Amino acid sequence: MQIRENVSLKALNTFGLDAKARYFCSLHKMGGLRSVMQWAQEHPDLPVMFLGGGSNMLFVADFPGLVVQVRLLDKEILGQDDNYFYVRAAAGENWHDFVRWTIDQNMAGLENLSLIPGTVGAAPMQNIGAYGVEVKDCIYEVQAIDWRTAEIRDFSVEECRFSYRDSFFKSVEPGRWLIVTVVFRLPRKPQWKTAYAGVREQLEGKTLNARLISDAIINIRQSKLPDPAVIGNAGSFFKNPMIPQAKWETLQAQFPGIPGWPQGDEVKLSAGWLIDQCGWKGKRDGDAGTFEKHALVLVNHGNATGAQIWDFAYAIVTSVQAKFGVTLEPEPWVVK
Ligand SMILES: Cc1cc2nc3c(=O)[nH]c(=O)nc-3n(C[C@H](O)[C@H](O)[C@H](O)COP(=O)(O)OP(=O)(O)OC[C@H]3O[C@@H](n4cnc5c(N)ncnc54)[C@H](O)[C@@H]3O)c2cc1C
Repeated sequence: MQIRENVSLKALNTFGLDAKARYFCSLHKMGGLRSVMQWAQEHPDLPVMFLGGGSNMLFVADFPGLVVQVRLLDKEILGQDDNYFYVRAAAGENWHDFVRWTIDQNMAGLENLSLIPGTVGAAPMQNIGAYGVEVKDCIYEVQAIDWRTAEIRDFSVEECRFSYRDSFFKSVEPGRWLIVTVVFRLPRKPQWKTAYAGVREQLEGKTLNARLISDAIINIRQSKLPDPAVIGNAGSFFKNPMIPQAKWETLQAQFPGIPGWPQGDEVKLSAGWLIDQCGWKGKRDGDAGTFEKHALVLVNHGNATGAQIWDFAYAIVTSVQAKFGVTLEPEPWVVK
């Protein structure tokens, strides 16, 4: 296992930020894990961070420890029962390619999550979601290694504690578990989720199947979201905030037309709408800005630093707080 020093991460994060890793290695095989873990044990003062496709990261600073890029590849169909197909994929598999592969195998369930950048291993981290589906709906179990003890553990869906853009791995024990494989459970009788505006219109009158829905989602995403290969970004920069019912009623009285969706005792707001109402869509400060078509997406127009993007995000948070009394939380993993 080769461990390199002072490695630029510019090509390894979709914001295109020129941060450096003090130490860096790529994990291609499980066999290499032992030597990396041993190296980490010999350097106990250095922090360790796992990296997939770098599409949900904001490097405000260089990383002072070891970055382990997870490149483990493999995927296989495990079998089926009366209700489900079971499929396993290694953490380093490209997410979108994996989704399309399941469709090629005549399996459904992941089509609404087409074209989300990144890797299979990062998908459970923030329980990726789009167009009415979250990855937890299709996960059977997650296999992860405890970076401290080398224990390998299978986490059931319940143990993963998935919630909106969150999981056990992201917020309960962040940075401790290296996800190595994910087993998916895909329904043999899929229930298509096409109620989202945009999706419904594209599919009107058509006989639905997973490929058709995936193609429609790809079209919509390509028309709405910036391609990181062209303009640096990490997708939605803020989570949609959840507020108590009483606050929702106050906001509705103050801002008629404010969109919101009841979620149990709380109401989910649209972070994009709140930001848009504060006049941020398409604004920029130097090379840090919001995307012209989508105020929720922060972009790097070229040479912004992570600190400039972070300052820009902070200005947005402050103005949304001042106007609506709602605090926005960033979605990406922020290295400070
Ligand atoms: C244009 C664009 C659109 C996007 N659209 C969506 C969307 O619709 N829905 C959505 O949910 N997200 C979206 N995202 C965010 C992002 O694609 C997802 O969060 C994705 O799962 C990140 O994968 P990654 O491999 O790039 O993870 P990285 O950015 O490399 O890492 C993200 C986090 O996961 C950790 N991590 C990565 N791999 C592992 C592993 N094997 N084990 C343990 N921890 C690990 C990292 O340490 C970090 O904390 C979008 C991003 C972009 C750029």
